[in-house]
Amino acid sequence: MALERLRPPEPEIPRNIILTTVERALNYARAHSFWPLTFGLACCAIEMMATASARYDVARFGYEVFRASPRHADLMIVAGTVTYKMAPLLRRLYEQMPEPKWVLAMGSCAIAGGPFADSYNVVPGVDTIVPVDVYVPGCPPRPEALINGLLALRRKVINPKVAVR
Ligand code: SF4
Repeated sequence: MALERLRPPEPEIPRNIILTTVERALNYARAHSFWPLTFGLACCAIEMMATASARYDVARFGYEVFRASPRHADLMIVAGTVTYKMAPLLRRLYEQMPEPKWVLAMGSCAIAGGPFADSYNVVPGVDTIVPVDVYVPGCPPRPEALINGLLALRRKVINPKVAVR
């Protein structure tokens, strides 16, 4: 009992203090405000546009600022069929985006060529041109699937060690 009285009090850590790094804090902000580059190439682009419409309202996650310039974008959503004619332009636009940047492949065509995989002029997957972070399968994927992919990317940006599902 006497010893108990001599022991110094436990240091109290206030509950409203969060310890982190600047990089992690920045990634948290980035993950909640992607600025996608519009890269609609075919039918999948219609579903991408629907995702930004009032019905699916991707703005509620902070991703509504679709940009026409790669200099203003940090996320390339490749929505549609990538042809060999388009491939060098896609690569150039990717290189013009500032770091950090991410790529989401939307639909079977962007992932692996889709129904045109055997065609003489269709790229069998955009990941042969640029690194892809998230794949959203479907022909076309519904807006809910794209939102799910965006949320998977959010988890990846916040914690790069977590596997994307
Ligand atoms: S995956 Fe299907 S819907 Fe999307 S661009 Fe290819 S053919 Fe069109």
